[in-house]
Amino acid sequence: MSSTLLEPSTTAHDLPAMLPSVEWITDTARVARLSQDFAWFSPILKRDLAGKTGDVVARPRSEEEIRQVVSACAIAKIPLTIRGTGTGNYGQSTPLFGGVILDLSGYNAFCWVRSQVGRAQAGIRLSEFDAQARPHSMELRWLPSTFRSATLGGLFGGGFGGAGSINYGPLAAPGNVLGVRVMTVEPEPQIVELRGADAMLLHHTYGTNGIVLELEVALSPCVPWSECVAQFESFDQALEFASKLTKAPGLIKKEVSFLAAPIPTYMAPLMPLFNDKQHAVMMVLAPQSVEGVEDLVKSFGGVFCYNKTAEEVLSSNRTLIEYTWNHTTLHALKVDKNFTYIQSGFTPAKHVEQVKALEKELGGEVLMHLEFLRTKEGDFNCSGLQLIHYTSEARLNEIMAIYRSHGVQINNPHVYIVEDGKQNNLDPAVVKMKERFDPMGLLNPGKLRSWASREVRH
Ligand SMILES: Cc1cc2nc3c(=O)[nH]c(=O)nc-3n(C[C@H](O)[C@H](O)[C@H](O)COP(=O)(O)OP(=O)(O)OC[C@H]3O[C@@H](n4cnc5c(N)ncnc54)[C@H](O)[C@@H]3O)c2cc1C
Repeated sequence: MSSTLLEPSTTAHDLPAMLPSVEWITDTARVARLSQDFAWFSPILKRDLAGKTGDVVARPRSEEEIRQVVSACAIAKIPLTIRGTGTGNYGQSTPLFGGVILDLSGYNAFCWVRSQVGRAQAGIRLSEFDAQARPHSMELRWLPSTFRSATLGGLFGGGFGGAGSINYGPLAAPGNVLGVRVMTVEPEPQIVELRGADAMLLHHTYGTNGIVLELEVALSPCVPWSECVAQFESFDQALEFASKLTKAPGLIKKEVSFLAAPIPTYMAPLMPLFNDKQHAVMMVLAPQSVEGVEDLVKSFGGVFCYNKTAEEVLSSNRTLIEYTWNHTTLHALKVDKNFTYIQSGFTPAKHVEQVKALEKELGGEVLMHLEFLRTKEGDFNCSGLQLIHYTSEARLNEIMAIYRSHGVQINNPHVYIVEDGKQNNLDPAVVKMKERFDPMGLLNPGKLRSWASREVRH
């Protein structure tokens, strides 16, 4: 397409006819569906993002098709919102100002595995990446519970980590993501490879400061993981067990998730094993560590009540991972749609005491769900995805304030601006990256406050 065909009056609706070789979705209902993610977990976001939709969806399958769409949007100054498969939680891929949704799920080729490193196009599903790495005896270092459908680019653009973060920390820990290939949003889009810390300036920025085409990530040796559950009558003992297991150097694990009573009763496959007074610790363990963990469970007064080998997990097509992280919230919402949640980061070394204190203060109204992990710096810790019986926005804010008053960081899942979710801790270099990769501010406009305030200053 020649840029002379594009006029200032060109709108997103004109693009499908101008770029017929690209797959476009123009049906209003489908475009509206592809404008949404799982922001509905939050009654606040559900309200604030109601009716926000793109104008059309482009689903390019090659770098050349992406280039054509991006160039056309840059020339006509049409907003562009990148989407993987839309499993984000904060309206991350919901456009605030219409325009084109750039759905990269069809740009999904696996590139290679070399030694302990893998590379793929951004739209690859994480489950597919893992399947491709397995013949090389490698696996991804972290699997969000949405691994079946979520994309690698989406995890990088909007995610945190998942099963495996107990060993390797979040994606943001240095050494996890090695490099990204990025396209600029300009009439003549440029392609740049960013490595290490530079690459991380595009992480968790909701696709506001560059279009990631490919990612290169460090892998870990693959393990035939077993999946197990321990049951406890005592909250404190379950918590202390989970903390002890996280730190136990000889017991190899990929996931340790703590669910306070009555959350286990919301998890269909665990339901018959639990009554509403019992607490669960769900674990993904190396097979040689199962016996040792069973002993540890007993020493904390628990009962080892569920144990599946990797073969059993595979043949049942049911994995405990899909009951952890924000899947816990999803299962709870199926039982009671009045639940919502918060996300919290505890303080390493104080986390067990902080959890106990908050359980004492808010137990019953806030149901404790913790994911044990290592921080970006390597400290043992847990982060919370606590379930809340929602009553009002004011009470939700009070609960988050109570958490903060205990020294716990809240990563607020009820806001859609990048900085608000991170308590305003945004590295100014993120904005510099946007100047370089999106000088016209067309990517997901409205989501990066520091960019908007920079425009006001100019
Ligand atoms: C039930 C449930 C469970 C979840 N569990 C976890 C979990 O365990 N761990 C976790 O970290 N998250 C979790 N999430 C959040 C989400 O699933 C992950 O962040 C996921 O990896 C997002 O991938 P996606 O392809 O769906 O991305 P999308 O939702 O489509 O996009 C996410 C963000 O990334 C941007 N983006 C997408 N692709 C690119 C690209 N190529 N270049 C630049 N920006 C891009 C988008 O613009 C958007 O802002 C969960 C969500 C739900 C609903």
